[in-house]
Amino acid sequence: MKIICFVKKIILIFSLLSNPLLSAQQTGKVDFKTLTAAVSIDTLTRKVQGSVQFTFQVNENVDSVFIDAKKMSFNKVKLNNQLAKSQTDGDKLWIYDKFKAHENYLLTFEYTATPYKTLYFVGWDNAGSNQMWTQGQGKDTSHWLPSFDDVNEKITLDLTISFNKKYQVIANGLLMDEKENGNLKSWHYTMKNQMSSYLIAMVIGKYQSKIEVSQSGIPIQYYFEPQDADKMEPTYRYSKRIFDFLETKIGVPFPWQDYKMIPVRDFLYAGMENTTLTIFSDQFVVDSTSFDERNFVNVNAHELAHQWFGNFVTAKSSTHHWLQEGFATFYALLAEKELFGNDYFYWKLYDSYTKLSVLSLQGQGESLLNPKASSLTYYEKGAWALLMLQKRMGEEAFGKAIRQYLQEYAFGNVDTDDFIKEVEKASGRDLKEFVQTWLSDTYFPKEEVIKYFDGTLVDDYSKIDCVNNFQTCEKRMNESVYYPIKQRIIEQVSKNLNDYSIELLNKAFALPDEKVRQSLAENLDSIPSALLLNYETLLSDSNFETVESALFRLWKNSPEKRTVYLDQTNQVYGFNDLNVRILWLSLAIITPEYEQNEKGVFYEELVNYTNENQPYQVREKAFQYLFDIQLVNRQMLDNLVHATVHPVWQFSKSSKTVLKELMKEATYKDYLMQNILQFSPSEQRLIKSLSE
Ligand SMILES: [Zn+2]
Repeated sequence: MKIICFVKKIILIFSLLSNPLLSAQQTGKVDFKTLTAAVSIDTLTRKVQGSVQFTFQVNENVDSVFIDAKKMSFNKVKLNNQLAKSQTDGDKLWIYDKFKAHENYLLTFEYTATPYKTLYFVGWDNAGSNQMWTQGQGKDTSHWLPSFDDVNEKITLDLTISFNKKYQVIANGLLMDEKENGNLKSWHYTMKNQMSSYLIAMVIGKYQSKIEVSQSGIPIQYYFEPQDADKMEPTYRYSKRIFDFLETKIGVPFPWQDYKMIPVRDFLYAGMENTTLTIFSDQFVVDSTSFDERNFVNVNAHELAHQWFGNFVTAKSSTHHWLQEGFATFYALLAEKELFGNDYFYWKLYDSYTKLSVLSLQGQGESLLNPKASSLTYYEKGAWALLMLQKRMGEEAFGKAIRQYLQEYAFGNVDTDDFIKEVEKASGRDLKEFVQTWLSDTYFPKEEVIKYFDGTLVDDYSKIDCVNNFQTCEKRMNESVYYPIKQRIIEQVSKNLNDYSIELLNKAFALPDEKVRQSLAENLDSIPSALLLNYETLLSDSNFETVESALFRLWKNSPEKRTVYLDQTNQVYGFNDLNVRILWLSLAIITPEYEQNEKGVFYEELVNYTNENQPYQVREKAFQYLFDIQLVNRQMLDNLVHATVHPVWQFSKSSKTVLKELMKEATYKDYLMQNILQFSPSEQRLIKSLSE
C-alpha cells in the first residue's frame, strides 16, 4: 500500500524542517552547564517521573535546542520561567526560540518515562532481594533521565531521588541530605565537576556500607547487602591499596570528590565505571576461600582507572574508545603487578598475547582505531600498545606525558591525536612509526611482544618439554616456581602415563599449591589406579574448581564408589554460581543406587535453581544440567522461556539455544503451544518461531 509510504515521507520532511539541528551535533553551538533533577520511581508500573532544570549558554545564534529524551512525555516546559514552544519526536525534546549568542538560559520541565532499558528492576516480582540499577553506556541514560547522548556534552549533576524509605538510594556524587516524608524518603546527591551523561547512575536496594579514606583524603565507600557482611573484607580486599597506587602512578589527583562501589544482581557486565559510583556484578562478592580463585581485584582497578581515563578525559567518539578501555586495562595490570608480582603480571599478558596473535594470524586482527573493533582489541591490544609505548619512552617520560595529557584535557574530550601530541611533546620524539604499528595496523606485532617476555616466566614456560627432558621436569616440580610452570608439566606428563610419570604426579599431589592440585584434577581424564587414592583427596579441597572437576571425573571413573563420593560432597555448594551443588544434584539424581527416597527432593531443588529469583549464573547452569540429564518439567520450561528475554544477552542466548533443542521434541513443543497465552508477547513470538 502506497499511502503508508507517503505518510512517512511527509512526517520525515516535516521533522527535517522543524528540527534544523537534527543531523548536526549541538555541542559547540550550545553549552549545557548544569542538570538538576528530582525524580521518583514506581516499582509497580516501572515509571519514572520527575522535574528537571537545565542551565545553558548559547555560543551561536540558534532557533532551537534539544535534550535527548527517549519516549517521554512532558509538561510545563518553560524557558526562563515562561512557557516555551516545544515538541517531542520520541527521541528528543526540542525547544524553539530565538536563542542569542552569549546569553544564558534556564530550561525547566516535568516528564514521565517508562524505560524499556537502562533501568533494571531485579527481584521485585519474585522472592529475590529487591534491587534497581542503571546502565547508561553507550547512549542509554536518556531512556530514564532527559540528558545528552553526545559524550562531548558534559554537565554537572544535582540529583534528588525519592523512594520507599525502607531502601537506600545511591547515585553519583556526595550525599548532601536525606529527607523523610511519610513512607517516602528523598536522597539528594551532587557532583562538583562536569561529566558525560552516560556516566549518570543510580542503585536502589537494601545495603550497608563501610568507608575507608585514601591517602589523599578521598572517602571510598564499600556497599554490601546485610547478609554479605562477612564477605565485605574479601570482596573489597586491597581497594585502598589500589586507589593509593593508581593515584600515585597516574600522578594526577583523583578528579572527583568521593568514590563508591556497589554490587548488584544480574548486572549486564563485570563492572561499570559511572562517575564516582562503580556498579559491579555480585558474582564478585566472595568469601576468603573463594577469593583466591575469583575476585574483584582486576575489575576494581579497571573501573577505578576509568575515573581518570573515560570519566575525567572522555574519548570524543568510538574511534578513540581505546583511550578508555586500553588505559583502564593497562593501569589495572600495573595495579595487579604491584599486588601479586611480576610472574602474575607476565602470565596475564601471555594470555592476552596468545589470543591476540591467534586472531591476527587468522587475518582477523583489528586496528585500535576501528570504531567497531572487538573488546579484545580495545582492552588487551590497547593495553599492549601502552606497554610498548612506555617501553620505548622509558617510565619517566611516559609518566610525564600522561600527567600533561590529563591536565591539558581535564573534564574535557579527547582523540588519539591529542594523546599522541602530548607524548611527543613530553619525549621530544616522533611517534609516526608507533602510531602506524600499534594503532593503525590490524596486525598484532607479536615479534616485538615476544622480546618483552625475554627472561620472564613466559620464557621459562615455553621451554618446558617433559617428553625430552623428563628429569628437568621432575626437578622443577620441587622448585618454588609460579604455578603455570607446574601446570604445564602436569599437562604434558598426564598425556604420557608410565611408572615415572605416575610417580611424578603422585608427588605433585603432596605439593601445598591449590593451583597445582587444580591442574591435577583437570588433566587426568581417566584416573590410573596408582593415582586414585591421591586423586580422591581432591574432593576435600577448598578450591571449588578442583572439587567440581574431581567429583565429575571420579563419578565417571569409579562407578562402584559413586555413593561414597556423593556422600563426601553433599554439603559443598561452590562459588556464587553453585558450580559444585548443581553438578552434585544432577549426579545424585541419575545415580540409581544413591538415596532412592530423596530423588524427588533433589530434583525439586535443581528445578528451583531455574526460578527467576535466582542469579542468572545459577539459572544458566541449572538449565544446562537439566537439559543434559534430560529431565525437563513444566516449571523448568516456563522458566526457560522467561530466560530467553533476560537483559543479559549471553544468558538469553544460551537459554534460546536450550529451548530450541527442547522444542525439537513434540511433547515440549505441544505443551508450550497449548499454554502460549501465559507468556509475554515477545516470548510468544519466540515460541512460535521455534515451533515452525
Ligand atoms: Zn572498561
